[in-house]
Amino acid sequence: MEYKTTYKFRLYPNKTQINKIDYILDLSYKLYNAMLEQRKIAYELNKDFYEDLKVNYNTQSVELSKLKKEFHEYNEVYSQVLMNVADRLDKAYNNFFRRINEKKKGKKIKAGFPRFKSKKQYRSITYTQSGFKIMDNTHLFLSKIGKIRMFKHRNIKGNIKQLTIKKDRSNNYYATFIVEENNNINYSLFPYNAIGIDVGLISLIKTSNDEPVEPPKYLRRSEKRLKRAHRSLSRKQKKSKNRENARIKLAKINNHISNQRNDFAQKLSKKIVDNHNFIAYEDLNISNMLKNHKLAKSIEDASWGMLINDIIYKAERAGKYYIKVNPRNTSKKCSKCGNIMDDLSLDIREYHCSKCGLTIDRDLNAAINILNDAINKIFNKFIVIKKIKNKHKKRVGTDCAEFMPVEGKPIPDKANFSMEAGSPG
Ligand SMILES: [Zn+2]
Repeated sequence: MEYKTTYKFRLYPNKTQINKIDYILDLSYKLYNAMLEQRKIAYELNKDFYEDLKVNYNTQSVELSKLKKEFHEYNEVYSQVLMNVADRLDKAYNNFFRRINEKKKGKKIKAGFPRFKSKKQYRSITYTQSGFKIMDNTHLFLSKIGKIRMFKHRNIKGNIKQLTIKKDRSNNYYATFIVEENNNINYSLFPYNAIGIDVGLISLIKTSNDEPVEPPKYLRRSEKRLKRAHRSLSRKQKKSKNRENARIKLAKINNHISNQRNDFAQKLSKKIVDNHNFIAYEDLNISNMLKNHKLAKSIEDASWGMLINDIIYKAERAGKYYIKVNPRNTSKKCSKCGNIMDDLSLDIREYHCSKCGLTIDRDLNAAINILNDAINKIFNKFIVIKKIKNKHKKRVGTDCAEFMPVEGKPIPDKANFSMEAGSPG
């Protein structure tokens, strides 16, 4: 299996390098607009004067060497970076034509003709194959720019296919590598260390074996700073230097928070995938939950969607099982006897079953239910397959029924159980 992975590292260019990157960005956006203009003119001429002017990616990329002779400043840009400008425009056109086709087929979308870009919108350049080299863990060499300090916080596995240098809205610079990774996964035939994960409201994340997960409080801490920055921005006069400074400050805080979230999700997902071979989680429609504002803060804090995505991503690469279960009744059902408690409001933190008397943390109860549902889900599948197979056999084969969890009973912590080979899908 081949995977495409991206690696993003912060760059720390010096003054001269910043000027160079900004200069190249400036030339790139001007080139982009000029090429768009050229295509538009060709279109008008063809339409109004029955000419047959061909302007496309090929003609435009061939013209780049002519451009360099007339406008010497374009010699300051690495050739592939220039080619990529033509490629971006071509992609914009292809998307435009695709949307026109979809519209013809009755899809309700705007076709949206490719637009001229402003200097503020054009924030990245791409080296498609060459012109760059990672020197060591601290430096990146870029042709026409130089050796830039880079914080490479993890090792790249696989073949680097492309590099994009981006200046974000808070004027930080980043290098994003697209890497192709060959990964021959060896699925373990025996899932072990099964875990169910529930997103709670107070503890945020609860696992079926009650692993302690430190809830991240940084958002609320940063929130005050964020509010202050928002207020400060709104007080500044439009188009003033002060307003621009306030905007950058706000963007920096937002950036900081998003980095913290990402960091939390990365670390937690790694821990979960490293320690567990079978991971069960709820199929929650995150966006729906976010509409409820009381929940919104906690969920955002926990970066739940990001966390699940990270888990799936890592589990897939490590050859581990991840099972999505239906969220229906996972918090209402008693994990011991299967009784369903209907009147369970969100502020009740302890689950108390009126039938069997089980008293348990509400989220822990849900996490155990999630794990049980996932195990039932895959074992039912295997038993169905077995039954179909057995129809054609004289002798009755051995079922894996002895591994079936008893209906409604909690699975012991870090359940060890075995099953047949194959992906549970
Ligand atoms: Zn019960």
